[in-house]
Amino acid sequence: MAALRWRFDNSYARLPEQLFSRLNPTPVPAPRVIILNRRLAGQLGLDLDLLPEDLAARLFSGNALPDGAEPIAQAYAGHQFGNFTMLGDGRAIVLGEHIAPDGGRFDIQLKGSGPTPYSRTGDGRAALGPMLREYIVSEAMHALGIPTTRSLAVVATGEEVFREAILPGAILTRVAASHLRVGTFQYAAARRDREGLQALVDHAVARHFPQLKEADRPALGLLEAVVDRQAELVAEWMRVGFIHGVMNTDNMTISGETIDYGPCAFLDQYDPGTVFSSIDHGGRYAFGNQPVAAQWNLARFAEALLPLLADDRNKAVDLAEERVVAFEDRFRARWLAMMCRKLGLAGDHPEDETLIGDLLAWMAKNDADYTNTFAALAPGAVPHGPMFADPVFADWHARWRARLSDTSLDLMRRSNPAYIPRNHQVEAALAAAVEGADLAPLHRLLEVLAQPYGRRQGWDAYEAPPQPGERVLQTFCGT
Ligand code: AMP
Ligand code: MG
Repeated sequence: MAALRWRFDNSYARLPEQLFSRLNPTPVPAPRVIILNRRLAGQLGLDLDLLPEDLAARLFSGNALPDGAEPIAQAYAGHQFGNFTMLGDGRAIVLGEHIAPDGGRFDIQLKGSGPTPYSRTGDGRAALGPMLREYIVSEAMHALGIPTTRSLAVVATGEEVFREAILPGAILTRVAASHLRVGTFQYAAARRDREGLQALVDHAVARHFPQLKEADRPALGLLEAVVDRQAELVAEWMRVGFIHGVMNTDNMTISGETIDYGPCAFLDQYDPGTVFSSIDHGGRYAFGNQPVAAQWNLARFAEALLPLLADDRNKAVDLAEERVVAFEDRFRARWLAMMCRKLGLAGDHPEDETLIGDLLAWMAKNDADYTNTFAALAPGAVPHGPMFADPVFADWHARWRARLSDTSLDLMRRSNPAYIPRNHQVEAALAAAVEGADLAPLHRLLEVLAQPYGRRQGWDAYEAPPQPGERVLQTFCGT
């Protein structure tokens, strides 16, 4: 195991003990490697090439522990669809924090590693399909340039898990800048644990915002910084048509990384009301509602931090409110800048907002594919296809062309992916892997998604929206 060159320094395990529980993963009967992420391992300074496959299987299932690991389950709370609950890692264990060669600090977490004190009625396990789904989508998000947790390995456990059906069990190794969530702070706040809350603020500052260390009120700086990161993150989701699906406060990170790929999905046709998650009945986490949901979560974060924002309670409330309200303008500015880049619009122009709005309205009315419509727009070219023959589009196109400049092509190339993890293609690759034990479609899809910008020969099939019979209507948490 020394061959892997783990370098652990477990700062979370040094926090006040009420914030986590120490326990080992529960061993599994027959671990078998399904997929290893060699590129990510390289970035982490881990040498997988010298690791025998059976040892990799034992390591990434938790049957063997690396030197320096101090396994813990983290405590947290969360508003799940608006309802507050005390939670915690119910099926995940953080082995520790690995220090990469560039000095970066990463949580190494096993997801599906067995019951913990926070499991409630759950079995602590995960199924192969959903773990491979997280692997595919998180790696695609990374290649798209969007902050995200990453996936280092998926190992089948040789155990069955019982959901609506009997499914093969698996464990995902998740790599994250940290697993601090809005809900982590809510946990300490709900217990009126000021010591724990302060320790979490200091920990978050040290890990993610070291420039705040000397600030008068690091908690206030932290709130501002998280508001900022989330505004940026949600704008980026909307750039590529990503619908998180379960934006509960326990699934919103302090680092600004996307986390928890349960019922997430990508837009095919543009409709801001799109919801895929089977449990999101009210459309709380619909595509177009994501900024509102993010701000609601940030208000919960601000509430949790109140005791540390100011000595006077009313003053603290005022400060919190101001920072949370500021999200709206920050998001709006980020979103507008992002949409301008998608359309190749450089510089500030008062009409740009109308131009963007008119295109989106046209797309919604015509069931236009979100990814392919932007990909079809190019300076100096007229998009072809029956839909674009619409005079309403022609009028918009003429106005748009008048706004283009030398930098347009470059801006657009870097903002508009050709390939996204389309739901029907992800499902097809998962079906082949899980039901057919054929990993070839999965590897091929991962190869395409690793280079999402710029069309490539032979990859046409990956641009195709679903045929009517292929359309994925619902996604499931898989828990
Ligand atoms: P999620 O919807 O995946 O964000 O999970 C919400 C909460 O439920 C977290 O505390 C999870 O750890 C917990 N959980 C989800 N699935 C299981 C499971 N199979 N066993 C135990 N806890 C679970
Ligand atoms: Mg979660």
